[in-house]
Order: sequence, then structure tokens, then C-alpha cells
Amino acid sequence: MTPILRFAPSPTGRLHLGNVRTAIVNWLFARKSGGRLMLRIDDTDLERSTAAHAAAIETDLAWLGLDWDLFARQSDRFDRYAEAADRLRAAGRLYPCFETPEELELKRKLALSRGRPPIYDRAALKLTPREIQDRMAAGERPTWRFKLERGTVAWDDMVRGPVEIHAESMSDPVLIKADSQPLYTLSSVVDDVEFAVTHIIRGEDHVANTAVQSQLFEALGAAPPTFGHFSLIADASGGKLSKRTGSISLENLRDDGIEPMSILSLLAKLGTSDPIEIHTGIAQLIQEFEIGKFGRSQPKLDVVELEHLNAKLMHLLPFEDVAARLPAGATAEFWDAVRGNLLRLGDALQWWDVIEGAVTPVVADPEFLALAAQHLPDGKLDGSSWGTWTGAVKAATGRKGRELFLPLRLALTGVDHGPELARLLPLIGRERALRRLEGHAA
Ligand code: GLU
Repeated sequence: MTPILRFAPSPTGRLHLGNVRTAIVNWLFARKSGGRLMLRIDDTDLERSTAAHAAAIETDLAWLGLDWDLFARQSDRFDRYAEAADRLRAAGRLYPCFETPEELELKRKLALSRGRPPIYDRAALKLTPREIQDRMAAGERPTWRFKLERGTVAWDDMVRGPVEIHAESMSDPVLIKADSQPLYTLSSVVDDVEFAVTHIIRGEDHVANTAVQSQLFEALGAAPPTFGHFSLIADASGGKLSKRTGSISLENLRDDGIEPMSILSLLAKLGTSDPIEIHTGIAQLIQEFEIGKFGRSQPKLDVVELEHLNAKLMHLLPFEDVAARLPAGATAEFWDAVRGNLLRLGDALQWWDVIEGAVTPVVADPEFLALAAQHLPDGKLDGSSWGTWTGAVKAATGRKGRELFLPLRLALTGVDHGPELARLLPLIGRERALRRLEGHAA
């Protein structure tokens, strides 16, 4: 049986770290198992969903390098949900409720004040067919609730192991709103049945949904798929992932220069027994993926970790992989000189300017620099020039260490830190170096 998975975002905003993780895990599962992945746009909420967000989700996934084999948009499928609702009604599993939101809130408060869980009391089940007819005829529009079967819902969760939930602890969920809009609980199951989804992997915030949806699968005549619920990410502080961290969008990260492989390397492993390390290619992540490696404890996420991974990635990427994104004219020698000093690819520009652009030399001791200039080796500078040069300047001045190197760096690059000068010097070249040692912007 070919596994069929789905990633089902609601297009009410940009993809963020939380739902990107779900996308990555489902994608890796599909690719590892030779299965198929569906991208399903959960846009039944027509007020909050936008076509622009749906399009951005596709762009973001493509940028990450995640593809999909099947595609569905829930707003194209309202007739399917209506048909399923009819079947549930005919089976006596969907019943109309006329309580207003205010009445329901009052019931909730009352239950809580009596120390009872705020579970819907099924008062609507006591309405006679006549009463229902009259209220409908009078123009009242009911919500429709799914009648849960009493008893325990149990499944063997791919991450959490055996899970049991008592249906008595849950309210009969509303599947259809008063304005006839089907809710996610229903549309999701209808699609999972119709597209023969075999594995649903999502966050543990969906565990209660799974209990309800398992009954819904059965009510619609289908066996529930295999479920896996991974632990949600916590902030570095250990608390629940804050809105701020949790809502960091892929777009923000991309604008910030974080590479897809840094994000994939982190999110593929977060919460698993594997170490989090930079991977330069997605193939290895597929190879190492196993849903059983996900644990139950809450993984912590510090966005700084993404920057560390990104810096490591810069270090490892060969010139061919980045050439197209470097300034025109940049060579492999340039890349080798600077990549160890980059947090993000865009930082290379600063060093390209040091080589090709006008640097404002920082000159504290012009006499020393004038002397140093006299010792700069003749001819074309190469990898050994820096050593030869500083050796000569040291012998001539008695300076060593920082006292020797820092004034040269400040004059040649305008800043007190950066890539090895042994590599930069040949790129800067003799003439430009001499001008900078004289204090001229060059
Ligand atoms: N649209 C739902 C969400 O984003 C999908 C949940 C699911 O995987 O079933 O939460």
C-alpha cells in the first residue's frame, strides 16, 4: 500500500516555523516511504482565507525545496462536504442545535461553577421533529453537531504510542455553522477519506481532534488512518512557543538570509533523538528520517540556532552552489577567503566591497604604514605574500602580534575583523593595497 500523506495549511497567513515543521515532517515521511504527498489548502473559512496567502504557501514550499504529488483546494469541494453532512444526518449522527453563542456561554459558565467540565449538554437532542421544523420555518438557522458515540477512542500513535480518549469528555462538535459553512473537523475527514490518506502527522494540539475525527471516519464508512502527533515546540526559555517565535514566517527568515537547508536541517530533527547538525542536501535528511525518532518531550527552539546552522552552511557550501548569488566577478578564491566569516550569503557583499569597492582606511600611525608599504613584496601578490610581508615588517619594526597585524588590517579593509588577510591580500592586489596604506580611499 502506497502511503498517502497530506499537508493541510489554512491560507490565513504566511507559513511560519510551526506549520513548516508539519510540512517538512510529512514530506520526509512521504519521500522516505515512497509515498505521495498532497498539498491541501484548507480554505473553507472564506472570510479569513485569501488566494494571496494560498499562493504564498506554494511559493514558500517551493523555496524550501518541498514538492507535492497531489493538490486539492477545499473551497472547490463544498458539495462533497454537503453530501457527507446529508449522509450523517440520514444516519442520525448530525443534529440541529438552536442555542445562541450567548446561551452556550452561559451553559459553559454554569457547568464550570458547579465543578463540571463544560461539555455540551445535548439539550438539542430533546427537540421533537415538530419543534425543529417550526423553528426552521420561523427562519432560525441551526448549527449542526456530530453525535459522538460513548466509549473510548483508542489508537496506536506513531509518536505517542497507545492513546485513549473518553468520548464522554468531549462535546459533540459543531460540523456545520449556522450559515451552512462546513467546519474543518468535517471537511478534513471527508477529504482524508476521499483522497485515501493513510497517515496523518500533525502537532499534539490535534490529539482531541483525532478522537472526534476517528469517530467521524467510521461514521462515514471509512477506517481511520494511522496517526502521529509530535510534541509542539517550546521557546528557548522552555515555555510554550511564543507568538513571536512561533509566528516567525518563512518569508521573514528568507529576507533575513536564512537558507532553506538551515531551516530543513533544524526542523527535520527538532524533537527527535538525532543531533541537530547542518545538512547540505535534503537527500541525507530523507535517509535519516524515521517517525519513531520523534519523542514525547517538548523540543526547545531558539532562533539563534538557525543563524548558527546558517553560518555553518556558508562554511560548507562549495563555490558552484553559491556563484549565481554572489556579486558578478566573484571568484572561487574570493568565496574560499570569505565563507568562514559569513552568517548569511548577503554578508559576502561587505567583503566584496573590501576587494572591489572603495574602502576608507583607518590610519592611526601613518609612519608605520609607510614603512610597511616599502616592504610589500613586488609583483603579483599570492597566498604566501602576507607571510613574507609581515615577516619583513616585523623584522624592520620589531612589532609583532596585534600591534603588527591590526594597523595593517584597519588600513587594508577599514575594519578590525574579517577573513584571513593572507587570502584577502592577493584579491585586494598590490596597487590598491599601497593606496590604502597611504590612507587613500581605494
Ligand atoms: N488546516 C488544519 C490546520 O492547519 C489542518 C490540520 C490537520 O492536519 O488536520 O490546523
